Amino acid sequence: MAGKLVGIYGASGFGREVMPVAREMFASDDCELVFIDDNPELVKVNGVRVLTYSDFLKHEAEEKRVSVAIADAKTRREIEERCYSDGIKPASVNSPNNVVLDEVQIGSASILCPFVTLTSNITIGQSFHANIYSYVAHDCVIGDYVTFAPAVKCNGNVVIEDNAYIGTGAIIKQGQPGSPIVIGEGATVGMGAVVTKNVAPGSVVIGNPAKPLVRNS
Ligand code: UDP
Repeated sequence: MAGKLVGIYGASGFGREVMPVAREMFASDDCELVFIDDNPELVKVNGVRVLTYSDFLKHEAEEKRVSVAIADAKTRREIEERCYSDGIKPASVNSPNNVVLDEVQIGSASILCPFVTLTSNITIGQSFHANIYSYVAHDCVIGDYVTFAPAVKCNGNVVIEDNAYIGTGAIIKQGQPGSPIVIGEGATVGMGAVVTKNVAPGSVVIGNPAKPLVRNS
């Protein structure tokens, strides 16, 4: 019986990127790493065992931890809540080459991929995903279940509310002390967008400068 069992939930694209980082963090004789995936056809991915959630629950270990490597915030929250109510603890997976400067507070279950930088005086909620080459600059406040695709540039004095998704290569302009740029709850910032002013909750913005997406019905 392994002392510690760590499951990376989701054996798709992002999960396969997170697994080697987790291996570097957790690898020891006393710790086994597996994928958890609800697709029963997956047995092994990149040489790592894939367990269904029920098999993960049955597997004997002194301590079980999970990191949910699924970008969609709603799915991630639902899976985490199920796992935690079953007594599984959160695991953060943070690449050893991350740069984290002064006074950074970050909640549980974060995934900080390689080449992520968090500078100084930053507060981040739970289950933050920062994909490769993203940064968060000084005095930002980031909520729960926020997701950064690769190479997001979040400049200083920005507030990002819960469940927001920031697409690949998006740039968020620096706000002012006491007057931050605010990305509202559940908003989506499109790939490559340049955000120069507040984004309304639940909205989708695209382009440079970023503007709300108008859908033709
Ligand atoms: N998945 C799961 N349970 C869920 C939702 C997703 O096991 O409730 C798995 C799904 O089978 C897939 C992975 O998680 O293997 C999610 O992959 P997707 O490509 O949707 O997300 P990404 O890896 O791009 O974040």
